[in-house]
Amino acid sequence: MSEFIKIKCKECGKEKISFSHATREVKCECGNVLLYPMGGKAKLGKAEVVESYG
Ligand SMILES: [Zn+2]
Repeated sequence: MSEFIKIKCKECGKEKISFSHATREVKCECGNVLLYPMGGKAKLGKAEVVESYG
């Protein structure tokens, strides 16, 4: 199931809402890559999931 997730950057602590099946790299304002597209569920970079909205 695809869902929206709130992820927190481990570099600067900023939070961002993203799609769990992102098809493009999701970057934080600080340049850190938060999500890598994997063709299915995106892989977390230096970030943690704070909340998910199923
Ligand atoms: Zn950041």
